[in-house]
Amino acid sequence: MYDFTPTENQELIVGTARQFAARTLAPRAAELDANGGFPRASLAEAAELGLLGINVPERLGGVEAGAVAYALAVIELAKACAGTTVAMTVSNMVAEVVTKFGTPEQQQEHVPRLCSGEYVVGGFALSEAGAGSDPAGMRTRAVPNGDGWVLSGQKLWITSGTDAGLFVVWARTSDAPGSQGITAFLVRGDAPGLVRGKPEHKTGQHASTTTPLEFNDIELGPEALLGEVGKGFRVAMMALDGGRIGIAALALGCGLAATEFACGYALERQQFGHPIADYQAIQWMLADSATELEAARLLTLRAAWLKEQGRSFTQEASMAKLAASERGWAACDRAVQVLGGFGYTREFPVERYLRDVRVTRIFEGTSEIQRIVISREIARRFARAAG
Ligand SMILES: Cc1cc2nc3c(=O)[nH]c(=O)nc-3n(C[C@H](O)[C@H](O)[C@H](O)COP(=O)(O)OP(=O)(O)OC[C@H]3O[C@@H](n4cnc5c(N)ncnc54)[C@H](O)[C@@H]3O)c2cc1C
Repeated sequence: MYDFTPTENQELIVGTARQFAARTLAPRAAELDANGGFPRASLAEAAELGLLGINVPERLGGVEAGAVAYALAVIELAKACAGTTVAMTVSNMVAEVVTKFGTPEQQQEHVPRLCSGEYVVGGFALSEAGAGSDPAGMRTRAVPNGDGWVLSGQKLWITSGTDAGLFVVWARTSDAPGSQGITAFLVRGDAPGLVRGKPEHKTGQHASTTTPLEFNDIELGPEALLGEVGKGFRVAMMALDGGRIGIAALALGCGLAATEFACGYALERQQFGHPIADYQAIQWMLADSATELEAARLLTLRAAWLKEQGRSFTQEASMAKLAASERGWAACDRAVQVLGGFGYTREFPVERYLRDVRVTRIFEGTSEIQRIVISREIARRFARAAG
């Protein structure tokens, strides 16, 4: 039913991503991991190559290669540098959200600037200190002011918070309970009253910055409203469905890179007079990783394919993210084991892959939240079939 042999167009974008990853991302990955920083130059090059608008219509400055091409490209990018790649996946997600929910004027105003790198990248500001897995508990508020709004509150853990030129920000616009009364807004990075906090000290993905944001009575015009008042939660959930395909691909990139490195190492490393690849214990670890990653890759491509067909893909995107992040983590852990003591040092990149992949089990919905989404969707489908 599914044939994932890449089309010519998919080959083109994946080839572009692979070459960019080898030429630009891979040589800088270890240095960024050691010293941090925001990879502005790499992101500018990515924008030039069309990698900040992979699934965005050409009329808005994207390359319109589709969701499957997007997933395949992200795998290639993440193999080289997961930190730089996460800034790209979030920016692609923001460009897609504005394309889907923006008015024609908002689309024209913002999407070409996201794709071209004029905004550097886009940011997605949903989480707060007290509202992570349960974003409906947010306290950021937007109060009507003439024909616009005044935005106040704080967000936490915002990817590219240091440099993004445009944020989608969610705020409460009424006291309606739970997810009702939440509205999405477009906030420019230079908006007076926007304060970017200091980057968090993270376990991995040091090439990406993650910061708090403060909104000190930011005055927003009516053109900042994204979608309908009080319907912002749906915007966030639909964005995250697509975002989860990107995070699944990111986790796969880390897992595949670690497994490929471990294979090469196992063929070279001699113990007891043999390459360790001769030992079944090592062979089985590599076989398990290869099998689990391939299963997760197929789930990811299937979710992307459903998205591309315009069909429902909420459950499949959560399955893909759950499988790819958990199995990507297991594959990186096995790779460290295959390298033994060397795997635990910075001499080789597998410990970086392990640190970089860890957060894929947390952001854009933890593994526990993915299980909640999947079980809810399964129950819904059973109820529909039964009744
Ligand atoms: C590096 C990084 C980058 C990020 N980037 C962004 C970004 O760009 N934009 C953004 O908006 N957010 C971002 N986040 C935030 C991220 O999405 C949240 O951290 C995540 O959703 C989890 O929320 P939390 O950290 O508050 O954990 P909590 O919600 O406090 O969860 C803690 C634990 O409880 C579990 N748990 C919670 N509720 C349930 C439940 N109902 N059933 C079972 N278990 C449950 C969780 O699975 C987890 O194990 C980022 C986070 C990190 C670490």
